[in-house]
Amino acid sequence: MATRRARTEIIHRSCPLCEAKCGISVEVDRSTGTVATIRGDADDPFSRGYLCPKAYGLKGLQEDPDRLRRPVRRVGSDWEEIGWEEAFELAASRLREVRAAHGADAIGTYVGNPNVHDLGSTLYLGPLLRGLGTRRQFSASSVDQLPKMLSAFLMFGGPLAIPIPDLDRTDFLLVLGANPVASNGSLMTAPDIPGRLAALRARGGKLVVIDPRRSETARLADEHLFIKPGSDAYFLFALVHTLFEERLVRLDRLESHVRGVEAVQTLAKEFSPEVVARATGIDALRVRRLARRFAAADRAVCYGRIGTCTQEFGTLASWLVDVVNTLTGNLDRPGGAMFPRTATGPAADAPKPRKLPYGRWRSRVRGLPEAFGELPAATLAEEIDAAGDESIRAMVTVAGNPVLSTPNGNRLARALESLEFMVSVDIYVNETTRFADVILPPVSPLERSNYDLVFNGLSIRNISKYSPRVLEPPEDSRDPWEILAELAGRVNGASADAVDELVLSHLLSSAVGSPGSSCPDVSVEEARKQLGDRRGPERILDLMLRAGPYGDHFDPERSGLSLEVLRKAEHGLDLGALEPRLPGMLATESGAVELAPALLSGDVSRLRARLSERTADDRLVLVGRRHLRSNNSWMHNIHSLAKGRDRCTLLVHPTDAKRLGLADGARARIRSRIGAIEAPIAVSEEMMPGVVSLPHGFGHDVEGTRMRVARQHAGVNSNRLTDEAQVDALSGNSVLNGIPVEIAPA
Ligand code: SF4
Repeated sequence: MATRRARTEIIHRSCPLCEAKCGISVEVDRSTGTVATIRGDADDPFSRGYLCPKAYGLKGLQEDPDRLRRPVRRVGSDWEEIGWEEAFELAASRLREVRAAHGADAIGTYVGNPNVHDLGSTLYLGPLLRGLGTRRQFSASSVDQLPKMLSAFLMFGGPLAIPIPDLDRTDFLLVLGANPVASNGSLMTAPDIPGRLAALRARGGKLVVIDPRRSETARLADEHLFIKPGSDAYFLFALVHTLFEERLVRLDRLESHVRGVEAVQTLAKEFSPEVVARATGIDALRVRRLARRFAAADRAVCYGRIGTCTQEFGTLASWLVDVVNTLTGNLDRPGGAMFPRTATGPAADAPKPRKLPYGRWRSRVRGLPEAFGELPAATLAEEIDAAGDESIRAMVTVAGNPVLSTPNGNRLARALESLEFMVSVDIYVNETTRFADVILPPVSPLERSNYDLVFNGLSIRNISKYSPRVLEPPEDSRDPWEILAELAGRVNGASADAVDELVLSHLLSSAVGSPGSSCPDVSVEEARKQLGDRRGPERILDLMLRAGPYGDHFDPERSGLSLEVLRKAEHGLDLGALEPRLPGMLATESGAVELAPALLSGDVSRLRARLSERTADDRLVLVGRRHLRSNNSWMHNIHSLAKGRDRCTLLVHPTDAKRLGLADGARARIRSRIGAIEAPIAVSEEMMPGVVSLPHGFGHDVEGTRMRVARQHAGVNSNRLTDEAQVDALSGNSVLNGIPVEIAPA
């Protein structure tokens, strides 16, 4: 038998799986076109060799026989492979038909989280969504960070103007509703969280975690306090109250750039630590002591994440996190909460205030407001099954699995089944895409290049790194951007190239050649000439880098970033620690930090009205949790990650287990207002009494999917318990934590 000599090559790039963006070194056997090993890149200046187990899963993902390589069309309960031309034409013609018969809003779209991890998807989703012309757009944002985007816009003027913990320089880190040791950070790009937290402790810093579970992060903390799910806004207001009452407020450098301090003081008056203690479950003295310690620390930062967003008062809690940072002088200063400067952003701070994109239209059934062009994912099912003549008839999903990741997944599954047509851009036939008529699978993450447009803007250091493709894509395959551009073009009778040109010319006109642009002295023609006639996202990335704050500005005399420069820096570039950016970057109409925006202040009455009810509420409630080897719903078909003990267990405190007759290892029946499921019980003191926990993203045992490994480790879908009727009233974000449940032995 002939043998092929191994011809290996090592490619350095970023791991595309989560926000941490660790540097990876992938050894490729060019003779077979396969991945030999994946290691942490020790020379990556940001991650310094750190990896979590998911990175090795990239090899499993690459080789997964269940991953789709060619478009498929559903035929009855089966699937058949078809060519790209046929697939695109089928998708575009059916979408055009639905639009012609029922209007553009009869098409719904759902966009999942992996899109923001891919350069091409980030750039070309917009043209597709605009091309469809529908106002019924949904995404994973409204089961995740939408409240933070809303509060950031109101306070600082932009949905992504989110202050990030300056993790490497802080002395005091207060964490709420986040488990960065398992999630690897979220709205905080920071590889090697365990190492960075150890460094915080080693330099004498303190870590305090507020969470209804003694999570992996809480176990490393100097202090962990249990909190009743959904009560973060009360807790944060109690901190704010104490800061004012004990005269601990100091704005320092920002004194003349913050509006609304007195208004916040007035709002906080009625939420003393003593008044909210029963609602939060946290002793008032401990809250007061924490407020004093936080205010006394030289450099402190409060960090709130998904748990603070996916609750009844998600926007208020998100806002109050930044209020605490501001009132203690920790906003926009080293060691506090700071704003990154991305290599692809504008060359200089030249904010253009704009009106909040909010409430311009509403969902048909419940009348919930749009935010940033999207309707809440919690309304998707009813917009299909209960909107009568105005119902959604066709869906486009892109790298999303809302049946597992949005509330009342069962209802959504039934609704999707009733559609006239559905097209999915996805690599799996999963719990959602099984309802599609046609699935368009892009190449794998290792078969395409990448750059992190979004996460560099949420990073604890200013960084820039280009990720080259590792493997040659198979013949006749498509990059995500090609699929999106082709679809966007075809639904409007245009070509993918025309869509590509549209994206480029739009960005060119705002980046060069006009007063106020990043390169006012460079003509559009000159920039275009230097960019060359490549197609696709890399040309646009080159434009953004060159016109950005570290760019060469198309000037041969000026050294600076370009795609070519970045390609040569194969381990990535560290552009330095975060630097103060206020007031220059503020894009509020007043030009100041708005500490008490009217929309948020107005919602405090809702918080006040619920206080007595929450104080008296002793029902058992459910929260979610995250595991290091899991990434929402989509990496459960990879054997190396899925193997081992069952991770989809119901965590119950021993007191509750005894009271309810639940035995460790036995099964429990969990019932909420909307459904019931069974799960194995794990009795654990890590839970707060009165709170139980199930991870999300499981429930792979439904008919019609093609994910064999996931099916063997199916788990249960926690979103068969979460309630689509429960949303944060301001943002419409789903409430996924604090779900009242009843539990009995199964
Ligand atoms: S933490 Fe893990 S999944 Fe996230 S980027 Fe790093 S290696 Fe990838």
